[in-house]
Amino acid sequence: MAEQGERDMDGGASADPRPGAFPLWPADGSMCGIDGAGVLDALFSTNAAPILLIDPGRDGAIVDANPRAAVFYGHSRDRLRSLHVWDINQLGRAILPAMREIASWEGGHYPQRFHHRLADGSVRDVQVYAGPIHLGGRKLLLCIIHDITAVIEAEQFNRLLLENVQVGVCGIDRSGAVTFVNPTATSAFGFRHESELIRSHIGRFLFPAFPPGTATGGVRPHPVFRVAEAGEPVRDIETVLYRGDGTSFPVRLTASPIRKNDGIVGVVISFFDLTEEREREAQASDLANALPGAVFQAELHPGGGLRATYFSTAAASLFGVRPDADLTAARTLAPVMAMKGWARVRHGLRQAGRAGRVWEGEMEIAGGRWVLGRAQPRRRSDGTVLFNGVLLDITDRKGLEAELQQAAMHDPLTGVWNRRRFQQAVGEAAARLERYGRPYILALMDIDHFKRFNDTHGHQAGDDALRMVAATLSDRLRRSDALARWGGEEFALLLTETDLPSALGVLEALRQRVSAQRMACGGAVTISIGVGQARAGEDIDSLLQRVDAALYKAKAAGRNRVEQA
Ligand code: GH3
Ligand code: MG
Ligand code: MG
Repeated sequence: MAEQGERDMDGGASADPRPGAFPLWPADGSMCGIDGAGVLDALFSTNAAPILLIDPGRDGAIVDANPRAAVFYGHSRDRLRSLHVWDINQLGRAILPAMREIASWEGGHYPQRFHHRLADGSVRDVQVYAGPIHLGGRKLLLCIIHDITAVIEAEQFNRLLLENVQVGVCGIDRSGAVTFVNPTATSAFGFRHESELIRSHIGRFLFPAFPPGTATGGVRPHPVFRVAEAGEPVRDIETVLYRGDGTSFPVRLTASPIRKNDGIVGVVISFFDLTEEREREAQASDLANALPGAVFQAELHPGGGLRATYFSTAAASLFGVRPDADLTAARTLAPVMAMKGWARVRHGLRQAGRAGRVWEGEMEIAGGRWVLGRAQPRRRSDGTVLFNGVLLDITDRKGLEAELQQAAMHDPLTGVWNRRRFQQAVGEAAARLERYGRPYILALMDIDHFKRFNDTHGHQAGDDALRMVAATLSDRLRRSDALARWGGEEFALLLTETDLPSALGVLEALRQRVSAQRMACGGAVTISIGVGQARAGEDIDSLLQRVDAALYKAKAAGRNRVEQA
């Protein structure tokens, strides 16, 4: 038995050139016999790995164990010496044939993987470097134990990762042949099992109608091949890949070289199928184009920079620019937007972006058109704010609003203010009098014998006369003065920033101008005027009563004259 072992070892260590083989046994057999015990002592006390010494001839009894093994297995060295290899190996007694096989091998050999049970019942993945050793005439098996549980877990993790990620992953060698492929890539290429893809040429997935046998399909070199040639990775390129049936799908693709010993041995390709993403984009764009207005996106940067990044197709006609004009370029929008309106929009967007609330604004654009904008801000993790918004043409609404406002404030027949608007202006003048002591002057004017004028020339001519009087009176007024149709054929006039003598002069001139007008119907009209200055502390009603009395006085005194209250 001993002779047999010695011969085995002499032959084994020198005859086995395999890389990674267990190099413990020198070819000259110096570790055998008595010398071996000394080496073993040194090995036991200094080695950081657990070491077991097993006797294959005694049913795999553990003959000895180093202190490190006691720590690892959680058994004392004495206890370990009372155990057998099948007490710690998960295989139990089934390990014995394997153990005898290992013991019969010549010299070094590749490590074996087992599951070993510790004292606390837990199980570890171990890699065992085992080789025969001769001690005291017995052929024993020296086993160096490496705990590779973490490595195995990492391997399992990597495998699970590749199997479960929604990213297609495949590897190719330098000739372009597929060496591995994960399930996502397999099904993306339209196959059911990875074996259908292994060893096929990657070119068929990179090019349409890829002719077999050519590396690039006769087209310019694909970036993936450049990775293999130049060793430079490509990241996140958007391209298409082809399925086995020749149909294509859009992907975002990354390819990195696999290096070994300073050389490139292949390429790892990973890709994300963009089909669904593109579909969602198309739907969003359809939706945007189906809306009655235009849709836009803008970005607000932390520094305050604001940039439009997207406009739907409807925006071009809204802004009155060519359909192919790039509205995200400032030079396109600038001539369309009034500078002041543009500044207000930018200011409003910045404020809304910082406060995180909806922006809404109206802006006048070229051609007297009006646009209503509304946008929802969304803050991104990098601090920029993305606005998603709509733009609506509100030119019609604006026109209607202006008409309504005009109607609410003006007399439709003469175009001068109505009584309501005038009372508002008088209220403001009264407030100024009260607060700053600024007096104001009120005049009431009434057309003389207007009933008779209507009777003589007809109601239509009467309306013309009313319009003529309004036009004549407003012609000479200053911006700060206000004229209104007070009722039927009565007008009211508010004069500010003037004193009573000047006002009397103005009114007298107006009276003369009205009487000098000749109508198309051949008739003429005169007006009687009552005028008064508001006194300190006087309310509007009392002033009106005084002015009305003055008007009555003018009528009574023969009409076509100005009377002071
Ligand atoms: P006096 O000099 O005293 O003011 O005489 P008058 O006829 O003007 O006085 P009165 O107030 O009795 O008559 C006012 C007339 O004004 C009655 C009405 O027919 C006429 N009138 C009022 N509003 C309108 C209008 O909108 N159009 C026309 N054509 N006539 C109007
Ligand atoms: Mg009257
Ligand atoms: Mg009258």
